[in-house]
Amino acid sequence: MALLKNLIVKLILQKMTEILKCIKCGKYTLEKFCDCGSNCLSPKPAKFSPEDKYAFYRLSYKKKSQSL
Ligand SMILES: [Zn+2]
Repeated sequence: MALLKNLIVKLILQKMTEILKCIKCGKYTLEKFCDCGSNCLSPKPAKFSPEDKYAFYRLSYKKKSQSL
């Protein structure tokens, strides 16, 4: 089950790199709940994935090639 293992590794890596910020006291943490009992959210907006970026270029290229 290599696929499942890859997925688990991905999930662990994702959890490790996800830094959250407390909405109440502004403390940075990796936990979903702060020591003060408030929720923690990701401080930065969801960034575009490289796949989306390339999809944009692919689309514009497709449009170009169609208009020719
Ligand atoms: Zn807090």
